[in-house]
Amino acid sequence: MIHLHRKENMSSTNSQVIRCKAAVAWEAGKPLVIEEVEVAPPQKMEVRVKILFTSLCHTDVHFWEAKGQTPLFPRIFGHEAGGIVESVGEGVTELAPGDHVLPVFTGECKECRHCKSAESNMCDLLRINTDRGVMIGDGKSRFSKDGKPIYHFVGTSTFSEYTVVHVGCLAKINPAAPMDKVCILSCGISTGLGAALNVAKPIKGSTVAIFGLGAVGLAAAEGARIAGSSRIIGVDLNANRFNEAKKFGVTEFVNPKDHDKPIQEVLLGMTDGGVDRSIECTGNVSAMISAFECVHDGWGVAVLVGVPNKDDAFKTHPMNLLNERTLKGTFFGNYKPRTDIPVVVERYKEMGLELDKFITHRVPFSEINKAFDYMLRGESIRCIITMDN
Ligand code: NAD
Ligand code: ZN
Repeated sequence: MIHLHRKENMSSTNSQVIRCKAAVAWEAGKPLVIEEVEVAPPQKMEVRVKILFTSLCHTDVHFWEAKGQTPLFPRIFGHEAGGIVESVGEGVTELAPGDHVLPVFTGECKECRHCKSAESNMCDLLRINTDRGVMIGDGKSRFSKDGKPIYHFVGTSTFSEYTVVHVGCLAKINPAAPMDKVCILSCGISTGLGAALNVAKPIKGSTVAIFGLGAVGLAAAEGARIAGSSRIIGVDLNANRFNEAKKFGVTEFVNPKDHDKPIQEVLLGMTDGGVDRSIECTGNVSAMISAFECVHDGWGVAVLVGVPNKDDAFKTHPMNLLNERTLKGTFFGNYKPRTDIPVVVERYKEMGLELDKFITHRVPFSEINKAFDYMLRGESIRCIITMDN
């Protein structure tokens, strides 16, 4: 329900406030409430986006539960999405109304040392900041209800019919791409895929272990399959994950609960001395250590993707490194959001990435809380939420 009637040939800047529906998290862990909110016009280097599809990722749930963190409420969550540019603020030249975009929780300013380095995607200016609930330009929120501000989430806040995003956090994609599918490339799927293709880089015929078979781990398995790995060993504590994982090229399953010895020893035994590559997608620090210690000496590479708890420490004997094992970590699969994501969107089919397999549920925006239920019950990989506008 949009109360603003615009002409089709509107100018690229729009100074009007839009009133629209947004799913507001008023309190930690409480169901979201669909409210009518005001969305201020985009300011300098900002873009106002009409969201068409959004999906729920574990990171939303994590910050909505706000366990062990400073709670920031009321807040509008959501960061995996696709939409259309409605208007742009001062200084935005790369995007215009009508462009199709994917908002990304981490940005690419294209100016800093990281953005200029071919090796990094850790932009100095727009790197993810989960504690900031305001726009980077003026420290204010663009959302309000009855004049009271509502916090943003990771610069995206896509659980709203309209949102305001820094131009550096928007990937401009081919308008012919199916937005109701490619929206999931704006977070978890690209993270897992990139962890495999850009960081672990298994060669054809490799043996790869994937720790954690959630959306990120399954995307990593998909990446390992695309790279031509011949054995993909899935490790998860939840046996229900194994059936699903078969569709993602996982060839063998190991549940640490079925073994008395450390899981790295089990994997070393299964693979004649260790896997060629391992990709950790759990966030559990002992799984991270196992993922490192199960790679073969001489050439094995372990890649950490999961986000650990605040006080975790990674402990291993230095000899494990001296014996020519490599430990790496990655953020958003090493993809630069503006440079690389449009290419992934363009090429995902020819790469052999089967996005449909990840989309297990769909709900209308009015039923967004169901997406939380599916995820909390471990039933969904991705639930796409269709905006009603
Ligand atoms: P998820 O919760 O859907 O999946 C995690 C899986 O790991 C679950 O199936 C769980 O049973 C399993 N698991 C937990 N502990 C385990 C253990 N000790 N051994 C084996 N399996 C174990 O999560 P997800 O959405 O797939 O995300 C995975 C991780 O990646 C999270 O920590 C998330 O925060 C992180 N992440 C990182 C980035 C990044 O850029 N580095 C981006 C997105 C997500
Ligand atoms: Zn930068």
